Amino acid sequence: MTMDGSKSEPGKNGATQQECAGCGKAITERYLLKALDMYWHEDCLKCGCCDCRLGEVGSTLYTKANLILCKRDYLRLFGNTGHCAACSKVIPAFEMVMRARTNVYHLECFACQQCNHRFCVGDRFYLCDNKILCEYDYEERLVFANMALHPPPSATLAHIKRQVTHLQPPVKKICAFIITKLNRATIE
Ligand SMILES: [Zn+2]
Ligand SMILES: [Zn+2]
Ligand SMILES: [Zn+2]
Ligand SMILES: [Zn+2]
Repeated sequence: MTMDGSKSEPGKNGATQQECAGCGKAITERYLLKALDMYWHEDCLKCGCCDCRLGEVGSTLYTKANLILCKRDYLRLFGNTGHCAACSKVIPAFEMVMRARTNVYHLECFACQQCNHRFCVGDRFYLCDNKILCEYDYEERLVFANMALHPPPSATLAHIKRQVTHLQPPVKKICAFIITKLNRATIE
């Protein structure tokens, strides 16, 4: 906490010095960028691929595997890598998806793969042999499996508990980080 009047770590002009996360040097310019909870020289926050200054390109950045990228390069490199676990087709990077464990699905593909029942947020669904099943179809399958395997009855309930998952709201597959431009004089 800073007491009024006294500033911590005063620089040459009595103002706090920010260190650039890109080059590690102090930022003495009037304007600086803030992104990923760090401060940057305007010249140092650049796309790791095309070297464009990210403070000017739409003011968002994307990260993956320690790379900082502009939107265009992110899309070019990672844009079409997701595949829907139901239809096996590509999911564009900026589309909303449904998730179940490590699987991702098109919104329209997220349904019981047996009877096509659609789920609502909070509904129970089951992931069985990597297929989405509604409660009814899951239990059908379970009865069928039990007839084949004859497990002790106590094991059945534990098995059901492990498989059940509640539906989460759709998520964006990737997140963009906002870059803000700050006037150094306003930061303490
Ligand atoms: Zn720098
Ligand atoms: Zn780029
Ligand atoms: Zn799909
Ligand atoms: Zn079903």
